[in-house]
Amino acid sequence: MITFAPQLRSGRGVIGSRARLRIWCREAWGFESLRPHKKKRLSQRYLSSASFLFVNKPKAMKHPLHQFKHCPKCGAAEFRENNFKSKVCEACGFVYYFNPSASVAVFILNEKGELLVCKRREEPAKGTYDLPGGFVDMGETAEEAALREVEEEVGIVLKSVKFLYSLPNIYCYSGFDVHTLDLIFTGVATQTERLEANDDVEESFFVPLTGLKPELFGLGSIRIAVERFLHRKEDEKQKEKD
Ligand SMILES: [Zn+2]
Repeated sequence: MITFAPQLRSGRGVIGSRARLRIWCREAWGFESLRPHKKKRLSQRYLSSASFLFVNKPKAMKHPLHQFKHCPKCGAAEFRENNFKSKVCEACGFVYYFNPSASVAVFILNEKGELLVCKRREEPAKGTYDLPGGFVDMGETAEEAALREVEEEVGIVLKSVKFLYSLPNIYCYSGFDVHTLDLIFTGVATQTERLEANDDVEESFFVPLTGLKPELFGLGSIRIAVERFLHRKEDEKQKEKD
């Protein structure tokens, strides 16, 4: 089970010791499966990724409902922090919990083994690379959302999707920090010849994995997902050689 270091989770501003963060990264990203000579190099990469998400995001340290000044039920101004993820109305007793929104992103390869990449049309991270995906709707499974979002954004119908792992992120939309839990999938496409670019996708295209730069992906969680995907592919290649 993945557990977050208390300092990271409670957002007290100062992260725990580097050793503690390394332990957390190992739990979260499964370094144990890596070969010893690769561990040091990769752990440094993952540490920088983790830092991006949780340390260099001071906005994340604020209460997630700090912009909600009034009770959404009765309108009273006495809407106080209850704990790190909820507020309570002192007038009517209404308690509102802020939970992360589920979203999906999908790795799709074509016959040449190139990755389907989208360029973002809108903020946040406008103009940067992204994977096809988006928010899970109410009443929808994550798998259904993955299929729907891919078809809506790039016009590709998927035969199947397989869940890989999840990554937390903060997605600033309309001036509000939406905490998300990004569910990362791989998908098998029925065809990869005809690509579209709809919704918040400016352009969609395939990129060879050898020339793929994770730093071009503007959303932190997606960048980490791409790094992990590339490392996994490297590992698979190495295993084939061994
Ligand atoms: Zn109220």
